[in-house]
Amino acid sequence: MDVRTVGIVGAGQMGNGIAHVMSLAGYDVLLNDVSDEALKTAMTVIDRNLERQVSREKISADEKAAAMGRILTTPTLSELGRTDLVIEAATERETVKQAIFEDLLPHLQPHTILTSNTSSISITRLASRTDRPEKFMGFHFMNPVPVMQLVELIRGIATDSETFEACKAVVANLGKTAATAEDFPAFIVNRILMPMINEAVYTLYEGVGSVMSIDSSMKLGANHPMGPLELADFIGLDTCLAIMNVLHDGLADTKYRPCPLLTKYVEAGWLGRKTKRGFYDYRGDTPVPTR
Ligand code: NAD
Repeated sequence: MDVRTVGIVGAGQMGNGIAHVMSLAGYDVLLNDVSDEALKTAMTVIDRNLERQVSREKISADEKAAAMGRILTTPTLSELGRTDLVIEAATERETVKQAIFEDLLPHLQPHTILTSNTSSISITRLASRTDRPEKFMGFHFMNPVPVMQLVELIRGIATDSETFEACKAVVANLGKTAATAEDFPAFIVNRILMPMINEAVYTLYEGVGSVMSIDSSMKLGANHPMGPLELADFIGLDTCLAIMNVLHDGLADTKYRPCPLLTKYVEAGWLGRKTKRGFYDYRGDTPVPTR
């Protein structure tokens, strides 16, 4: 099946990155969000990130202009009905995602492939509530999308081979590498990464180390490019908490219990970089640890 137009639901940090790489690869993109502000910000961010690629001579100014020209934004979800592939990249909450699919389904063409960029929610369960479980799968990009090489492809129990192959071909067109993961909570990357981040928050909570000492320990002692708390701020603490809850509920093992301090930061609305405060405060010129 030939994918030409891609609909993206959610224009947050993932949605705008997905729009960026899709349009650069030649796909026509229709980007939707409930927030007009998010749509405006997304176009500004995409423009800035493409400009950075021009200044580094990774793409030409003409390629940038063509890519920007292929992205349209719309606050109306039903308009995505005319696309060949929909990637849902809205907030990591199952009720939000389910409501989006319910609203979208009556407008979709029969051939449209429906996917979710969810970091953790069951693809099989999301698929089972649609009219096309065989044309539904997980299309999981990593953050920041234009930079990260991997895309996890997750087949639900009912996903057919044609859908899987079509998504694999899209990943190859993007110049990225697909890894196939089975549909179990948080798939591969987050199954391993999130418990590490959660453990770093426990280490902070129990006073074993400060934000700075935990992050430098993992950077200098384990050769990680970013410390776990810095990375948590980058991902979004609400997303980290949501993934830990999915692991905890889905695998029913206490080793996945979310750290109460992570919950506290989310309750405070300190969600990391996107709200300018998390384990670090980003409101000044240099990030300052908040603990
Ligand atoms: P975000 O908070 O930056 O963006 C979410 C966007 O969804 C917001 O702009 C919000 O307005 C929009 N939204 C909410 N409800 C909507 C609706 N009903 N219709 C349309 N838009 C709606 O979040 P994000 O980090 O971009 O995460 C989005 C998805 O990508 C989540 O499922 C998350 O688990 C997944 N993901 C995140 C990361 C990461 O590192 N942040 C990595 C991989 C996958």
